[in-house]
Formats: sequence, structure tokens, C-alpha cells
Amino acid sequence: MATFDAVFVGAGINSLAGAALLSKAGWNVCVLERSDALGGCIRTSSELTVPGFTHEVLASWHPLFTGSPAYAELKDDLDARGLVYLNTDLPTGSAFPDGSSVFLTTSLEGNVAELGRHATADGPAWEAMFNGFRANADLSFGVLGTELWSPAGLGLGRQALRRFGRRGLLAYVGGVLSSCRDWLGDTFESDAAHGLLAPWVLHTGLGPDQATSGFMTQVIACALQLGGMPVPRGGGSVLVDGLAGIVRDAGGEVRTGAEVERVLVSGGKATAVRLAGGETVRAERAVIASVTPTQLYGALLGRGDAPDDVIRAAGRYRYGRGEMQIHLALSEPPDWYGDERRGRTAIVHVTPGLDGVSRAVNEADRGLLPAEATIVCGQPMAVDPSRAPEGSWIIWVQLQELPAGRVKGDAGGEIDVGDGTWTDELREEYADRIVARLGRHIQNLERATIKRVALSPVDIAAMNVNLVGGDIYGGSCALDQNFLFRPFPQAPGHRTPVDNLWHIGASTHPGPGLGAGSGYLVYKELTKPAVPRRLFSSVREAGQRLQQSVAKSP
Ligand SMILES: Cc1cc2nc3c(=O)[nH]c(=O)nc-3n(C[C@H](O)[C@H](O)[C@H](O)COP(=O)(O)OP(=O)(O)OC[C@H]3O[C@@H](n4cnc5c(N)ncnc54)[C@H](O)[C@@H]3O)c2cc1C
Repeated sequence: MATFDAVFVGAGINSLAGAALLSKAGWNVCVLERSDALGGCIRTSSELTVPGFTHEVLASWHPLFTGSPAYAELKDDLDARGLVYLNTDLPTGSAFPDGSSVFLTTSLEGNVAELGRHATADGPAWEAMFNGFRANADLSFGVLGTELWSPAGLGLGRQALRRFGRRGLLAYVGGVLSSCRDWLGDTFESDAAHGLLAPWVLHTGLGPDQATSGFMTQVIACALQLGGMPVPRGGGSVLVDGLAGIVRDAGGEVRTGAEVERVLVSGGKATAVRLAGGETVRAERAVIASVTPTQLYGALLGRGDAPDDVIRAAGRYRYGRGEMQIHLALSEPPDWYGDERRGRTAIVHVTPGLDGVSRAVNEADRGLLPAEATIVCGQPMAVDPSRAPEGSWIIWVQLQELPAGRVKGDAGGEIDVGDGTWTDELREEYADRIVARLGRHIQNLERATIKRVALSPVDIAAMNVNLVGGDIYGGSCALDQNFLFRPFPQAPGHRTPVDNLWHIGASTHPGPGLGAGSGYLVYKELTKPAVPRRLFSSVREAGQRLQQSVAKSP
């Protein structure tokens, strides 16, 4: 039986980064992936539309990874394996139905000027917001980068209390809980500023009227200015191969076609995993599962391995809205109407603005196809021209406002949704509506399109078992399932009720995205000195200090 220090279930970003970090720390690691490709939501394909056009089938943009502590620790090793990040000073903008636009750049002065163009007060408002955020960025990013149920989490709370005092802390927490709509209304005057930032709340799995969506929008707004919109040259597969290479070069194993069907528990401790087909892989120190709570507690663990209340709570774990991708291969760059910056911007949101996002989210939450969805129009070529033959272009469209589960109807009153199943016809009809709207902003879209490939929520779920119902964020990010509560209050954080079994991935804190946060936090937990050793070293240090002071005394 193969034996490792740690066995990872699944090969998404959190597993691969965690495995690479543990390998560098001297652990003998095995990563087991059920599908035929590593990377989970990172899937780079040159076959999707036309050969030679390189698409990110699912996740595309890497600002969370380039800003992560995992990248900071692994950068030299990844550089050595050919990973190069390309970036842009025009990360995002919004294109409105009346033909106007607004943009966010990587320059504070640029953003003050751009927002000031739409309302005089909004320029200084941006500067004040950014500076206010920066003053407490350690806390804001700290919430997302700390194991909250740990002494470090407690330390973060104490640090905030020291900084703000009791009343001030209450005000800070109140701000964290506010909705995007309230935060935008309190901060900026113009509809353009609202329409620039509101669509970003979708990228956090929330809607603009939900608790904490104001905080998340603010974090993203500032992160966009600070970090731009980086992508790996050539595609995310370069990152995936680099991480897998670190594990393999350290003597570890990374396997595809290896579905874990059971975590084996003995004496309350995870000791091994069993693969479909019967093979057992032993884990001496840790089994680290990057799966949904439903799979972990409902399938991978056996009866009696975890307490009943935990299993029941995991069964109630909620998944979020569905998502659709549309990929276009174009024979030439898009000829956008209006401001020429649209053609140079990494992600253009085609949106009626804050109320439009709110309406589309509400329609999707009620099971309807939105009449006027937020079109996330990604232009990877604006950052990495290697993705398509010279003179041509690709477009990556994301639609994050779709029903979870069956479609009950069409808020636009145009599409017959049948029995609500995502058939190929329903998918293509909805994609037609989206592409027609995009065509009202890009004059050569129809003529230049060589090939279109659309993926419905059902297609997306079929690609990765963690994307239940096409929820690309591994579970609803509503407050009762986020931060301290993620994945759910009966088993929060990354420790599980089973010794040596750790839970990571988008369903766990700090949630979805390519930041590798949960993989990093578990790596830190596993490699921190054991308590007795820490105690021993602090006693030893205290003894040494005493000896030195005795030696110095006259
Ligand atoms: C369409 C789409 C677009 C996105 N765009 C972005 C973006 O641009 N930027 C960004 O930051 N984030 C984006 N996200 C979100 C981000 O990609 C995900 O939150 C993140 O990749 C999840 O990583 P993970 O570590 O949880 O694992 P996942 O990527 O979910 O991978 C988990 C892996 O585990 C495997 N697995 C599950 N169960 C088993 C088992 N029993 N045995 C073996 N293997 C198993 C699965 O097959 C899968 O490969 C996007 C997501 C999607 C779907």
C-alpha cells in the first residue's frame, strides 16, 4: 500500500498550492484527482473553439493568486517552471445601455480623475475611500487570510479592538456587514460609479442587497487598483503544471483519474483513502479534502465517523446561483462603440447599473432567466496577446445570475423554458440573447465571430463535481455560510471532527477564488511547531535571557 505524509483529495488550486508548500516543507505528498485533468476550475484549452485559440474554459483571472501568501512563498519555484504573470493598467470598466462608459485603472490619480468625470464629488470620494481602506487593509485582508477559529483569529479581533476601541470596533463591524447598495449610496454620487462597482459583487458570490456585499465590493475595488488583472502568459495551465511539478520534483505523486470514494477512519483518526476500484492510499499525518461539505460528510465519511448533528448540518449546506460561460473566437479584435478604452479593458461589465444587477440577481433567485443579465465580458487578449493568432481575438463571457436548479421561466418573456431543464436548446437560446446584447456594444461582433461555445450551469457542474448545480463558488456565500460560519457552524474552519482530516476548497474559509487561501491556511497549521515544542522553546528562551542578565549583572 502506497504511504504518504499527506494525501489531498482533488487537484484544484487549494490542493495543488497546499501540496506544493507541504512538499517544500519536506512532507511526502500525494494529490488524487478524479477527472482526467489537474487544476479543478483552472482549465486551459486550445481545442474548445478553433485550434490555436487558447481559452480558459472556467476560471481566467488571477489577481487573488498573485496577491496571495501562497504565491509569495512559491514564486521562485514557479518562476523557474516558466510562470510569468502579465498585467494591465485597465482592469475593468462598465459599458452602459446609453453608450457611456466608466473605467477603473491601477492609478489612484487616474481613478480620481475618471470618477470625477461623472460627478465632481466622486473623485475625492474615491481617494478618501481608498486611503481609509488602506489604513486598515491589514484587518480587511486579515479577515480573508486568517484561520478565524484559532488564536490567530482571536489575535486579529484583539488588534482591531486596540486600534478602534469598543465603539469604533462596533462601527467597523457594522461597515463590514453593510450591503453594496448602502455602501455605494453612502460613498459615491454618480450612477456611473455605482454601475462600475456593483457588478463586482457578483464575483464574490453575493448580490448587491446582501449583508457584507458592501465590504466585499470595497475590498475588490481597492484590490483592482492595487493589483490590476493579471493572467499567466499562455494560460492557467502553466500555473497548474508548475505547482504539480514542485510536488513531483520533491518526490510526491500527482495523479488524475483517481477518484477518492472513502476516507478511512480508525479510532477517530483519518488514516487513508480508498479509491474507486479499491486501491488504498495511506496518509500518516493528514488527509486534506478539497470537496463540498455534502460530499465530505455525505459520501466520503462512513456512518458514525462524524457526529450526527454535523452530518445533518452538512446535508443542509446551501448552494448558490448557477452560472453560464460563453466563449467566442473572433477573426479580428472587437470594434466597440463609444470609448476606445473598452477594447483595452480586461473585464468590461455590460450592465444597466446597480439596479440592473439587483434586478437580475433577484430574478435568478426566483428561478427566472434575467431579462437583462450583467454580461461579464472578459478580454484575455487585452492582457496576454499569446492567447490567439495575431490579428484575431477571444472573448470570455460569464453570466452569474442564473437560477440554482430548474429554470421556472423567463423574466424577459421571450424564451420558452420548457420543463426548466438546461437543454442544449435552452442554453443556445439564452446565449443568443446575451450575444445580441453584446452586439449592440461591439459593432463587428457578428461578422468577426468564427465560433461560439456556450456552457450551461449543467455543463459546468459536469466538469467539476464541486460546482453543484453550476454554482461556481462551492456554496452560497451568504453571511450565515461565510467568514466565521464557513462552511457551516457545526464544523467551521478547516479542522473536522475527525482527527487528521482537514477540509479545504471553495466551500471553506476564505471561500471561492484562485487565492489558494484554504490550502495555505492548512499548510500553515500542519507545519507550525507542535504546542509542547513551542512551549519548550519559549521556556528555553526565557532561561537563556535569565542566564544573560545574570552574567551581565555586577
Ligand atoms: C466558470 C468559473 C469561472 C471562474 N472565474 C474565476 C476567476 O477568473 N478568478 C478567480 O479567482 N476565481 C474564479 N472562479 C472561482 C475559482 O475558480 C474557484 O473558486 C476555485 O478554483 C476553487 O478551487 P478549489 O481549490 O476549491 O478546487 P476546485 O477547482 O473546485 O477543484 C476541486 C477538484 O477536486 C476534484 N474532486 C472532487 N471530489 C473528488 C474526489 N472524491 N476524488 C478525487 N477528486 C475529487 C474535482 O474533480 C476538482 O478537479 C471561477 C470558477 C468558475 C467555475
